[in-house]
Amino acid sequence: MSYPTIKILPGEDRRLRGGSPWLFSNELRMDEAARRVPPGSLVRLMGPSGMMLGVALFNPHSLIAARLLTRNKDAAIDRDFVARRLARALQLRERLFDTPNYRLVHVEADGLPGLVVDRFGDTLVVQLNTAGMAAMQPLVVAALDEIVRPRVIVARNDSPARQLEGLPLEVESLKGELPERLELEENGLVFVADPGGGQKTGWFYDQRENRRFAAGLARDQAALDLYSYCGGFALTVAGGGATRVTAVDSSASALELAAASAARQGSADRVGFERAEAFAFLDAAATGKARYGLVVADPPAFVKSRKDLGPGLKGYRKLARMAAAVVTEPGFLCLGCCSHHVTAEQFAAEAWAGIREAGRGGRLIRSAGAGPDHPIHPALPETAYLKFVAYALD
Ligand code: SAH
Repeated sequence: MSYPTIKILPGEDRRLRGGSPWLFSNELRMDEAARRVPPGSLVRLMGPSGMMLGVALFNPHSLIAARLLTRNKDAAIDRDFVARRLARALQLRERLFDTPNYRLVHVEADGLPGLVVDRFGDTLVVQLNTAGMAAMQPLVVAALDEIVRPRVIVARNDSPARQLEGLPLEVESLKGELPERLELEENGLVFVADPGGGQKTGWFYDQRENRRFAAGLARDQAALDLYSYCGGFALTVAGGGATRVTAVDSSASALELAAASAARQGSADRVGFERAEAFAFLDAAATGKARYGLVVADPPAFVKSRKDLGPGLKGYRKLARMAAAVVTEPGFLCLGCCSHHVTAEQFAAEAWAGIREAGRGGRLIRSAGAGPDHPIHPALPETAYLKFVAYALD
């Protein structure tokens, strides 16, 4: 294959040699010829010594300019190549789960930079978040067809990450017709989701194991699920034997889906839905002396870019403080954080500081990340974005 060659600057191949698939634009020789390579092109990477190091997806306008696909410098990047990567991803998920509901492809960690595929049975929801992956869309669709044989493939290409790559934001069907609502199974419960209109791909599979853990704390407790979205935590906790669950979210459409799932699961009589801003809800709950044996708060990312780090960390601390204040003595507090700019250590430190500010003490009983269908690329900490901590409060 004759792909254009991009050269790595002297001394800048260290991370690549350490296993990372990323090269930043300041690590590459961005001469006139390199800048003229169309965004999303396949290129061969040449190391400082002149050795060819592999084939990458290239975008001269992106900070992450090259994303390595393979260290085989002679590899042909065709439908078979993508199909082999997909088959490997599928084999892992089939080993991990009994039902076809999971993240099938998790970007670089599955060897497909910028590609997300969430599976809802025979419906696949894909996100092509880099110029290179967007250019490979026909190969990806053909390979998905061959390996998974889905009835529906829809592209949720409306993630803000695409803007950094100069790609348009759009939602389109690539195969079949997307139903307005569909069902998925998780931890033995059936949920209703809206992959066309919901957040991201319509369901956050990453919290599956953490939801199950929270459910294990719930028996005979009144529980509160803040930022409930479609009720992932709230209804799993209801299934775990909570006497009463309150699901809070600012989105009416998310709560409608949660209510549909509650009806489907037969727990509607024990779950209440409140459309509210989470901090305002906590304020009112504290004043009204409402207390819960289990509180879960899994908010959207408070730190969306590095410059939000300071205020975002304060937000997590405040949330921990206000949530801890409405936990019974004793009781349980679970907190999630999906900001990839925040490390696990920073998050745990803010959570604990907030708990102390609420005048509470306790023990950390779980510190976890996403489930194994969101594998982590060992050389790419960015793929480990989810943090989850649970405390037994005194
Ligand atoms: N915990 C959920 C995922 C949460 S996604 C799960 O397990 O699936 C974040 C959710 O927070 C979204 O549903 C969004 O509507 C809601 N949200 C965002 N800002 C909010 C706010 N200030 N108060 C309450 N809910 C909010």
